[in-house]
Amino acid sequence: MTLYLTEETTASEIAAAKASGFVHAVKWYPAGATTHSHQGVRDASRCDPAFAAMEAHGLPLLVHAETTDPRVDIFDREVFFFDRELSPVLRRFPRLRVVDEHVTTQQAVQFVRAAAPHVGATITAHHLLLNRNALFDGGLRPHHYFRPVLKWEKHQLAVLEAAILASFWEPTVLRIRVATRHPPAAAPASTPRTRRSNCMPRSSIKPER
Ligand SMILES: [Zn+2]
Repeated sequence: MTLYLTEETTASEIAAAKASGFVHAVKWYPAGATTHSHQGVRDASRCDPAFAAMEAHGLPLLVHAETTDPRVDIFDREVFFFDRELSPVLRRFPRLRVVDEHVTTQQAVQFVRAAAPHVGATITAHHLLLNRNALFDGGLRPHHYFRPVLKWEKHQLAVLEAAILASFWEPTVLRIRVATRHPPAAAPASTPRTRRSNCMPRSSIKPER
């Protein structure tokens, strides 16, 4: 089981979660970034007591790595999150164990590989199989819209390379898991009211120590 991190999560709650034996990680959803994230984090500095406790107790932080700043291009939101939000947290808590859930960009892959082994990542199958061309293939393809959004082909290739490296040479850095997005809506492609399919992880993976 994982805990849903909020700005009200206390150090004692983290300690109790660890002691329970049932909680294996804490999930950081930037508020508004994806499905059911409206009670997530708006200002990460307000979570410092929880981060400190997680670092002290070895409880991993699982991250949906997309900034919610509307001024940032949607295809750049993962890169900005690493630069503006995750990096400062890791500077304050250098022993904090972190997993970037569903890595999607070349820059994020490089970041994780440089920060391993206490920082890891997972990959979802659709980010291996598709790039953003799939969103516009013969018209708008809403079934391919989910968060984080599909990126350029060069990022898809970087994630594919990371998956291959993880399979053969770097198993402690990246692990592959199946897609966790919601099932596609029943409406056909290009139907304007097709429901969005955003990520909502159902399981978590601990990074290697
Ligand atoms: Zn997510």
